[in-house]
Amino acid sequence: MKTTTSVIIVGLFYVLLVWIYGGWVRDDHHASIKAPQAAQDGRSAVYKVTAYCPCEKCCGAFADGITASGALAKGKLIAAPKSIPFGTWIEIEGYGWAEVLDRGGSIKGRRLDLLFPTHQEALNWGVKYLEINLGD
Ligand SMILES: [Zn+2]
Repeated sequence: MKTTTSVIIVGLFYVLLVWIYGGWVRDDHHASIKAPQAAQDGRSAVYKVTAYCPCEKCCGAFADGITASGALAKGKLIAAPKSIPFGTWIEIEGYGWAEVLDRGGSIKGRRLDLLFPTHQEALNWGVKYLEINLGD
């Protein structure tokens, strides 16, 4: 019994360490520094927000791990229409702050696509309609 408990505790500690040193926490920190630069033109609108991962199902022939901006498809980032320049930081409810670094054939008009590390996490997000504020 005692051994089982300590194995569980060590396991949980490991998961926590992986989480802390993973990109998610670092990206949040990064975002909080750059966030004030996100102010663009005062647009606020409801966007259809979907999710994707770097896999072939999501990216097809573009599943090479590189985004349209040239940045690696990892951590948190957003695919947005060309009307939103690369480097724009957007806050998304349930996702947090992330940078626009990708494009997509179907990402036109009021559409955003959020990168997740796994296909399952992208499926879990599903489709959400969210109020997006592109600056004050
Ligand atoms: Zn996928």
